Amino acid sequence: MADQQHKMKKSPHVLLFPYPSQGHINPLIQFGKRLLSKGVKTTLITTTYLLNSTLSHNTNTTSIEIKPISDGFDEGGYASADSAESYIRTFNEVGSKSLVDLINKLQSEGHAIDAIVYDSMITWALGVATEFGISGGAFFTQSCVVNSIYYHVHKGLITLPVGATISVPGFPQIERWETPSFLQNYEPYPGWSDMVYNQFANIDQARWIFSNTFYQLEKEVIEWMRKMWKLKVIGPTIPSIYVDKRLEDDKDYGFSLFKANHSECNNWLNDKPNKSVVYVSFGSYGQLGPEQMEEVAWALSDSDANFLWVVRAEEQEKLPKDFLNKTVPQKGLIVAWCRQLDVLEHESVACFVTHCGFNSTLETISLGVPVVGMPQWTDQTTNAKCLDEIWGVGVRVKADENRIVKRENLLSCIKKIMEGKIGVVVRNNAEKWRDLAKLALAEGGSSDKDIDEFVRELKHEV
Ligand code: UDP
Repeated sequence: MADQQHKMKKSPHVLLFPYPSQGHINPLIQFGKRLLSKGVKTTLITTTYLLNSTLSHNTNTTSIEIKPISDGFDEGGYASADSAESYIRTFNEVGSKSLVDLINKLQSEGHAIDAIVYDSMITWALGVATEFGISGGAFFTQSCVVNSIYYHVHKGLITLPVGATISVPGFPQIERWETPSFLQNYEPYPGWSDMVYNQFANIDQARWIFSNTFYQLEKEVIEWMRKMWKLKVIGPTIPSIYVDKRLEDDKDYGFSLFKANHSECNNWLNDKPNKSVVYVSFGSYGQLGPEQMEEVAWALSDSDANFLWVVRAEEQEKLPKDFLNKTVPQKGLIVAWCRQLDVLEHESVACFVTHCGFNSTLETISLGVPVVGMPQWTDQTTNAKCLDEIWGVGVRVKADENRIVKRENLLSCIKKIMEGKIGVVVRNNAEKWRDLAKLALAEGGSSDKDIDEFVRELKHEV
């Protein structure tokens, strides 16, 4: 009887609102799939531009309904804005009006909305939710230690420019070069810098705070945060098939802005011996200068390993011609985009040379692949420290005084992972974290419990 009553209750409905970029959409979509599996209806909001770009490239769909709003750049998206500042300002002005219109429309069509879970970078979404009397939850897509650093800057507890070291509770001392790049250098990116600190401007009014990490991975920092907020730690937000396998058919994120040549990658990997391939990617934004591109190319060329390198189409002209004509045909494959999770899962892959974006970080942790961290900017520098020193799943390669990673340094790091004693240690650690990531998402695991608790709160069961 109680069960019947439960079934008759209407499903709660949550709007999910990621910041409009690949690395922010992926975690929110995955969170949505978990909610859906627990009886919560979810609608993903993204921009008209991204929705149009995605549908024209992507054949995958998810069962999550997607609704567009305008960011003021329907034709060209972020790339068509004059500057980051102008994009952020317009997104706020046009986006908040457009979100109001969408909520009005959904409600007039009879769709009740129980919560809006918005990207912590879109603080204004909480104002819109409050206007409608809807509860809001801020979703942080970056690691808890990075969030804690930004919180300390926001509160004036870390002052800029940073000195030689900083510290935050529950984490070892962080040297200047390991802090997020916005702390090292405010000037080039004032819009982004302000945005990451302002994530905390109205945090106390949010009913929920979510973080895409898992308890074991950042235990001490999470414990400290939980003294302030009722933090729900719900990651890693990786398609279920790669971790706990509890969600049927959850094989990929299902919202890709790039087209992967999957069979080409897979056939090439199938041909390579076990653990013989270095996989290299700098994410969906990474742009290496021509000199850096050459250094990476020649490091790969000098290494004994095979390599699969993702170089986005607009970056490929920077590749050295000799490398393309001589080295690549012998032992390499260059692709504009791949299905990264499938690559990381492939038995031929031994090492991931990564820019340490937080999604790539969680993916490599969840699949147990050791890394060479080659961070470029934003939180990547701190993620690289975690991967190397805190989680022990890889090494970091240092840049020189001109911020170039030299081929010999990269080569030596690749060798350490592929051949050296360090390789054995990091591989063991990587396997340990992979198992812990699975456990977090398994039934009754730490992330599963936090998601369940959110669902019970939505259903007014607690
Ligand atoms: N990715 C992918 N194929 C590629 C390169 C990247 O599917 O060839 C995915 C990767 O799995 C991750 C996302 O793109 O989910 C990149 O996010 P991340 O946070 O690592 O970096 P960002 O692109 O935000 O800098």
